Amino acid sequence: MPEHHSGTPSTLSALESFLWHDFGTEPSDWTAWMDRVWPEHSAAAADSFAAALHLHGVLRSMQEGHSGGQKGKQPAVYAALNQLIETAGIRPRLDKAGTLSLAAAQAADPVARLLLIVLEALRSGRWQRFKLCREPTCRASYYDASKAAVKIWCSMETCGSRNKMRRYRAQQNVQT
Ligand SMILES: [Zn+2]
Repeated sequence: MPEHHSGTPSTLSALESFLWHDFGTEPSDWTAWMDRVWPEHSAAAADSFAAALHLHGVLRSMQEGHSGGQKGKQPAVYAALNQLIETAGIRPRLDKAGTLSLAAAQAADPVARLLLIVLEALRSGRWQRFKLCREPTCRASYYDASKAAVKIWCSMETCGSRNKMRRYRAQQNVQT
């Protein structure tokens, strides 16, 4: 299960990496991730750890909904995302050319930056493509770049074939 898939748009690669990571309960993994992916936000890393974990959990819940689960489609999940948007101070803005976009009150906040990427992905319809692997022992986050967005495993080579093998064995057991 690779961190990055070849078909993921470059604008989504930081989000792809964030969702793929399992940050654990100590801030060290989060600060290391920040040093590597967004070194310009390193100073804010330790302070944003709790909010980052919360965002990670909310987004993974939403991904359940993209992967066939019902849990991710509950209003409470959307309410949690709305709360995060509120906390980050994300508002619509017009730039000098009059183009409408979303911006965060705290531009140096990495959680706000991640949220802006999620919101842009929601707007473009790409957010639906962030899924969780169906293989129960994997559950990795991945971006489904396939044309019809019908992938169910993070990787056909690993989880897809593992699943096939298990089904094959189960059939053999039934037959004997
Ligand atoms: Zn997998």
